[in-house]
Amino acid sequence: MTPGFHAASRRDFFLGMGAWWPFRPRKLAMGDTALRVARHGRSSWRFLHIHGDESTARSVLQQAAPVGMSFFIESERREIPVEGGWIDPNRLFSHAGAERSLRRRNRQWSEAQLINAGLRLDHQRPKLLEALLPRDGGVLIALHNNGVGYSIETEIPLSQKVSFKDPSRPGDFMLATSARDFALMETSPFNCVLQSAAPPPDDGSLSRQCALRGKRYVNIEARSGGHEIQRAMLDWLIAHLPVQQEF
Ligand SMILES: [Zn+2]
Repeated sequence: MTPGFHAASRRDFFLGMGAWWPFRPRKLAMGDTALRVARHGRSSWRFLHIHGDESTARSVLQQAAPVGMSFFIESERREIPVEGGWIDPNRLFSHAGAERSLRRRNRQWSEAQLINAGLRLDHQRPKLLEALLPRDGGVLIALHNNGVGYSIETEIPLSQKVSFKDPSRPGDFMLATSARDFALMETSPFNCVLQSAAPPPDDGSLSRQCALRGKRYVNIEARSGGHEIQRAMLDWLIAHLPVQQEF
């Protein structure tokens, strides 16, 4: 048996056991906390709740339990602990973005502390991106909540296309990185924007990483407490965006 054949057959064996294989990770390390992985059947959809204080988004995703893989941050706060300091979990998906967020949030830190926390995040990042970024034919949906001070109007200057159908609800909108997904989403009753370019600076956000890598990503923003509209947007996306099944 050649080594190549052996490796391939072993991989197939493990894939065949995927439904119950006990060593598939249930948690992914993120700073000093983790993302919990919840699986509901198999599909190439990925869903993410990343800001711990956005409790509407968490409960919408928990109640919907959509087919695919969902990730939940294990925190009640917006920021997560790392090496005795704090970082916004949606700013650690690039080295530059993580460094900027660490410097801003931990102003008392020495250079050595910054480097130490940066190295920790550098070490965790590949596994996080591997799990979160959708394969070809899949989409990553992130659910966020906002309050006064942030709305679709904040994003319009950064967007290539805008569909602002409900100006009475500027806090409730969807953001896509794929022009084809946006073309479908603008037929929905919901506000939406397209951000397929990723202009500098590198903020370390997941949407920027998806835009850079040509991955399909949709962010669902809803005002805190807006369960109904956030669930309606999630259901609309699942019903209308084309997604290949994962085999
Ligand atoms: Zn958020």
